[in-house]
Amino acid sequence: MAIGRIHVIGAGVAGLAAAVRLAQDGHKVVLYDSAGQAGGRCRSYFDAHLERRIDNGNHLMLSGNWAIRDYLQTVGAADSLTGPDDASFPFRDLRTGDTWTVTPDPGRVPWSVLFGAGRVPGTSLSEYLRIRHLACAGPEDTVQDCLAGPGTLFEKFWEPLAVGVLNTPVDTASARLLWPVVKETFGRGRAACKPLMARAGLSESFVDPALDYLAAKGAEVCFNNRLRALDLGDGQVRALDFAGATKVLDPGDQVVLAVPAWAAADLLPGLNGPQASHAIVNAHFRLTGPVPAAPPLVGLVGGTAQWVFLRDDVASVTVSAADALAAEANEAIAMRLWPEVQAALGLADGPLPPWRIVKEKRATISQTPAEDRRRPAPRTAWHNLVLAGDWTATGLPATIEGSIRSGFRAADMVVTSLSSS
Ligand SMILES: Cc1cc2nc3c(=O)[nH]c(=O)nc-3n(C[C@H](O)[C@H](O)[C@H](O)COP(=O)(O)OP(=O)(O)OC[C@H]3O[C@@H](n4cnc5c(N)ncnc54)[C@H](O)[C@@H]3O)c2cc1C
Repeated sequence: MAIGRIHVIGAGVAGLAAAVRLAQDGHKVVLYDSAGQAGGRCRSYFDAHLERRIDNGNHLMLSGNWAIRDYLQTVGAADSLTGPDDASFPFRDLRTGDTWTVTPDPGRVPWSVLFGAGRVPGTSLSEYLRIRHLACAGPEDTVQDCLAGPGTLFEKFWEPLAVGVLNTPVDTASARLLWPVVKETFGRGRAACKPLMARAGLSESFVDPALDYLAAKGAEVCFNNRLRALDLGDGQVRALDFAGATKVLDPGDQVVLAVPAWAAADLLPGLNGPQASHAIVNAHFRLTGPVPAAPPLVGLVGGTAQWVFLRDDVASVTVSAADALAAEANEAIAMRLWPEVQAALGLADGPLPPWRIVKEKRATISQTPAEDRRRPAPRTAWHNLVLAGDWTATGLPATIEGSIRSGFRAADMVVTSLSSS
């Protein structure tokens, strides 16, 4: 069979990762997106009110995320992430003003936790040993089932971490989805759990370099092209129906569908994938006074926000699993979160500075055991169609790392099916 084009639908990080890997292998790639830009839920833009470039939402990554590393290396953006010099996670309790820092040990064995010096103040060894319940969590176990109990470690570390990673309340979030993240990062010692953020912006790290790379490889990129329907028959995709034009596929053409779960459900009959989602609310504040000498990332407990990020003079707050908050008025959210930023960064009392609230109502799928079971494998019943996206069954939470791995996996499957046909 002739080797045709590979049509990648959706230019979020999953679609970009698939397109990059395929273009790297010398395949003819056409990448489409319904929006006028790439990046999907992971992008940056200039905010005219703040007069700053901001991300749609702060994205926290960890140095153990190997697929992120591979992807950035390929597109020439390996040095576009930044973070604290060491793998440390400073926290603040907004009720008491207490502060503490979680600093993982250098090696796989957490000696300092075992002997006491490295423990969060007021926590006991038995609280750390609960991690074994996470390691052997059953299919229905939640993060709370495995890690909560007497003591304060759950509230002071696991809960903000888990809500941030899984964007799902801890009493419903799947323990089995948190474990691979902990194993691949904290389980490998300090070098694998350094927090990382985009230095200039998410688009500058994940999107623009990838588009440049694809252009250099001769890939075609088509924005403002919404796939309206797939023409399915004879066990394959026969044509792509875009709003405005139908593209009949040639023999040997392949399709990677890398759209979000809710868009895929409209396109693929009988998909039956995840249906529930949770919101993430981000508040960006442009500081008007001197920029504090604060860490770039501070974890919060006892308030509304879980994490505060500081990039130049913009302080950004993330609230995950924020469905109720997202229903509130933007001004009320800004008023509620600004005092938390002031406390986290040690800012003097002052009026609300210029702010922007970004509500992503369907930020990720709900990562409960039941929804996780609905995540589909990439291979479909149509021989020239594979799925990618953070919502497919990657065994990981819906994160950038999971999205990129899903894109790589879809690309590898396409290559395998091309070489066997
Ligand atoms: C506010 C927020 C904060 C987050 N924080 C973190 C974090 O701290 N760390 C982390 O690792 N992850 C985080 N995530 C998750 C991460 O952003 C996502 O997992 C990832 O971006 C999903 O990428 P994707 O390519 O799978 O999907 P998307 O980014 O949704 O990409 C899908 C693309 O398909 C396009 N599309 C949709 N329908 C069609 C159609 N019919 N035809 C053509 N194109 C179509 C869309 O326009 C979009 O560009 C966060 C997400 C949000 C929203």
